Amino acid sequence: MAHDGTLVFRNEDLDMQRSKPKFAAAMVEDLRWLGIRWHEGPDVGGPFTPYEQSARREFYLSAWRKLRDGGFIYPCTCSREDLANAAAAPNEGDDEPLYPGRCRHRLGEAMQHEIPEGVNWRFLIPDGEEIQFDDLYFGPQRFMAGKDFGDFVVWRRDNIPAYQLAVVADDAAMQITEVVRGADLLKSTARQLLLIRALKMLVPSYYHCNLVRDETGVRLAKRHDALSLRRLRELGQSPQEILKMRTSR
Ligand SMILES: [Zn+2]
Repeated sequence: MAHDGTLVFRNEDLDMQRSKPKFAAAMVEDLRWLGIRWHEGPDVGGPFTPYEQSARREFYLSAWRKLRDGGFIYPCTCSREDLANAAAAPNEGDDEPLYPGRCRHRLGEAMQHEIPEGVNWRFLIPDGEEIQFDDLYFGPQRFMAGKDFGDFVVWRRDNIPAYQLAVVADDAAMQITEVVRGADLLKSTARQLLLIRALKMLVPSYYHCNLVRDETGVRLAKRHDALSLRRLRELGQSPQEILKMRTSR
């Protein structure tokens, strides 16, 4: 790498429905074909194994326990219908609807739970606090807790840690110093900074990049059935052509 860093490949495979071993193998193959070489990862090992999130549950449970003990999270028993009635539709990306805080009064019940299973666990955000960070690409960012996002889920009712919690726990355990990811996750970074503060972890630097979109403006994502790397490859695109594809905000 140009900056002499260590590139880590972590397979974020917590969603069992969407994560199958054959997809992971195809992803590795496609990224290698594109010319990306990582120093640590599921296929090459490294000092912070395992590199599959599905095998890192103990790290997430430990983070959940710390948040519970510290009074940062509460069990939310709202049904899907409750939430659908209370909130606006989510935006593009990982975004979730603004939760109105109906179960905040359950904060005191948190310690009755030995394990997270059975309810959604939400992080109690500091309403009105402005979360700021300097993005290495987009520059200064500011998001308002309670306006840009509400009490977000850190552990799902179906007993799967939420993305926000998993990546924060992994970034700390794997000693990640620089996070590079898509601009659709800028707001998530504000949420994660709150988690990092609560867990007393070190804050990495962040570089968010523009999303690659096809000619109709649809972003490259398998779940939207847009052009995947595999599809572009089958269509005869070269790695050089793909790496030169225009990105847009
Ligand atoms: Zn609730």
